[in-house]
Amino acid sequence: MVAGARTGEVAARVMGPEGLGALVEALLERGYRVVGPTVRDGAIVLDELSSADELPQGWTASQEAATYRLERRSDDAVFGWAVGPHSWKQEFLPPRTRLWRASSTDGGVPEIEEPAPPDRPLALLGARSCDLHAIAIQDRVLLEGRYVERDYAQRREDAFVVAVNCGVPGGTCFCASMGTGPRAGKGFDLALTEVLEGEHRFVVEAGSERGAELLEALPTRPATDDDLAASHAVTDDAAARMGRRLDTTDLPGLLARNREHPRWAGVADRCLTCGNCTLVCPTCFCTSVEDVNDLADGSAERWRVWDVCFSIDYSYLHGGSVRRSPRARYRQWLMHKFGTWHDQFGTSGCVGCGRCITWCPVGIDVTEELAAIRAADGEVDRGIAR
Ligand code: SF4
Ligand code: SF4
Repeated sequence: MVAGARTGEVAARVMGPEGLGALVEALLERGYRVVGPTVRDGAIVLDELSSADELPQGWTASQEAATYRLERRSDDAVFGWAVGPHSWKQEFLPPRTRLWRASSTDGGVPEIEEPAPPDRPLALLGARSCDLHAIAIQDRVLLEGRYVERDYAQRREDAFVVAVNCGVPGGTCFCASMGTGPRAGKGFDLALTEVLEGEHRFVVEAGSERGAELLEALPTRPATDDDLAASHAVTDDAAARMGRRLDTTDLPGLLARNREHPRWAGVADRCLTCGNCTLVCPTCFCTSVEDVNDLADGSAERWRVWDVCFSIDYSYLHGGSVRRSPRARYRQWLMHKFGTWHDQFGTSGCVGCGRCITWCPVGIDVTEELAAIRAADGEVDRGIAR
């Protein structure tokens, strides 16, 4: 079962910070591999957790274009930060995956070995609303289209999702503009809102039957009207304090009629075509395959690896690359994310997480680029902008 549809209204409950320990234990007891945020290498990253003690309590991160800085908070908030460099994509669509291994046999017919499915389902602890939307986008592409990505389906199956509603948006977040946050509406089994005003507590809502079942096992009390109001105040305040905003009015149309906008050349002068933006993006799903042969033992392996549209080889067809210039490659990325993704998959390819802005080494900002194109919309055709 994939986490998702609500199964009916389940009354919200409230637990103290110690309830997080019980939550992690309950997930481990039920056989999940729990992955959540932790501090490592100067950032809040996602990793396997064995207890709630590993959560980033008392930490936050300041984010701006090309800037990420881990900082101490003045309180004990556990989720007082926004998204980090990792996304859940690395769990469901890992950067490198062996698809199969072929070994030679005495009879001459190769023996094909496929990787075993994961031994335990995954529990995501701390998925933000923008990331739930990103997972839904990847599901649409990799599970619900004409072709199902088997490895993705195996990793995604039975995943338990504990969402965390955002109270501290990052300096590069713009989910409120994209309609993807900061409060999770669906796609979770449990959703937590951390309230710091007054008593430090978590308001917990169930989004599925198994979420409700797990909630009953946690040390909670019923939520009062004050608790619910405080929970909504947290996300209303976050929505009002977004680091970035984006006018999303007819972005596909805007981009389609501005293919020759001079801004594309301006961004190409700055873009390193490093692909960082696509690697950190929770919706980008482009991959390539690598075949590896071992002449010593006669085996062969096929690996699926993340690839990026910023690589000149990515559009290599019949002796040449279709997108030779950085201008063409950046334009392809931005137009796909915000424009033609709608035609292909019925949604935007961007969920407003801001990662591509924070982790671009030269600070290229999609909200700034789109605003600049909108500011001179149509002027190219009229011969005004050069
Ligand atoms: S926009 Fe930034 S992160 Fe993306 S390829 Fe260009 S330089 Fe790299
Ligand atoms: S394009 Fe940038 S802001 Fe949008 S989902 Fe990808 S990384 Fe996040």
